Amino acid sequence: MMPRVAVMGGSVGGLTAALVLRDAGCDVTVFERSSAALQARGAGIAALEATLRYLTERGGRQVADVCSSTNWIRFLRADGGVRHEQRHRYLFSSWNTIYRSLLGLFDPARYLLGREVTGFSPSADSVRVTLADGSATDADLLVCADGVSSLGRARLLPEVRPSYSGYVAWRGTVPEQALPATTRERFGDAITYQVLKDSHILVYPIPGLDGALTPGERLVNFVWYVNVAEGGELDDLMTGQDGIHRAVSLPPGAARQSAVAAMARRRARCGRRGRADRAGPVGARPARPRPGAARPVPGDRRQLAVRRHVPARRPTAHLRALRAGKLASRLLSHSPGRDPSCP
Ligand SMILES: Cc1cc2nc3c(=O)[nH]c(=O)nc-3n(C[C@H](O)[C@H](O)[C@H](O)COP(=O)(O)OP(=O)(O)OC[C@H]3O[C@@H](n4cnc5c(N)ncnc54)[C@H](O)[C@@H]3O)c2cc1C
Repeated sequence: MMPRVAVMGGSVGGLTAALVLRDAGCDVTVFERSSAALQARGAGIAALEATLRYLTERGGRQVADVCSSTNWIRFLRADGGVRHEQRHRYLFSSWNTIYRSLLGLFDPARYLLGREVTGFSPSADSVRVTLADGSATDADLLVCADGVSSLGRARLLPEVRPSYSGYVAWRGTVPEQALPATTRERFGDAITYQVLKDSHILVYPIPGLDGALTPGERLVNFVWYVNVAEGGELDDLMTGQDGIHRAVSLPPGAARQSAVAAMARRRARCGRRGRADRAGPVGARPARPRPGAARPVPGDRRQLAVRRHVPARRPTAHLRALRAGKLASRLLSHSPGRDPSCP
């Protein structure tokens, strides 16, 4: 008899596990809490080898089918001028593209939406999985792929708790075609970093919402990491326009205007300090959150996420960003005439 596998969580982790186990001859069912098809979350994804392995080795996809690529890594000064650049090839995709590609390879009848797992109890040779609708199912194996607030981890490793890492990420996407040509050109073939006081920004192109990879039809993904002290300031930031406080992330457009305005003031302060040699097109039209950008533009996925350390290695773009951020800081510390309050 085929081993029965229940997968809790139907995002990219759960789907990948489901596909690999299915191919290995298991009878796999995915239980996903969300009642509607999952929407783009996290926007850009650094396309590491592990992220693409199933799609390229088993799914018949080419890297070029699902990834945008850039040939440069570039660090900008606060005024938008280039501080440093060098050739380096990176691959990027989007959560949307990876998810849709994986989902398309899995049997829809085995991918169950609106099925939240509320508990599980192992016995000698199986595990009983209970669902929010009161039903239960038995499996030989339960895969817990239920994300950062994992029920599985809480039950199996209760001593392991996420803790706040001290910074939040403002993130969003802008259609390439909404940018001036010079800005589009500057961002189109690079992962671009800018290190600011207590924060840094990175920008890179990702596939369009429909998966488009042609330059000009893609999205430009931006993430602005900002240090925020735990306590009142963080609580305030994580409380949306609806008055609801969220622990991990706010949905697109939910951030309060006061928080968006504070970010805009921060950007303006840095822009003023860099005015002396503001010549670059990027400094003139930065692709960052501004009050004006609060109005939805097509493809805008602005949202706020708090990073929490979780006891797992997460192959995410932001980890790369942190490493590159350290590199950038080192570069900055060697630069003459640096403004310490707003590099
Ligand atoms: C705001 C934000 C931005 C991010 N940005 C990036 C990025 O730029 N690059 C990058 O590589 N990664 C990014 N990430 C992380 C990215 O989302 C993860 O790398 C990826 O989605 C992890 O996939 P996963 O399957 O492990 O978990 P998740 O995507 O978190 O999915 C977990 C799934 O489990 C479901 N679930 C939870 N509990 C239950 C339950 N009890 N029963 C059934 N289903 C359940 C959830 O509905 C969800 O669909 C970001 C995450 C967030 C929140």
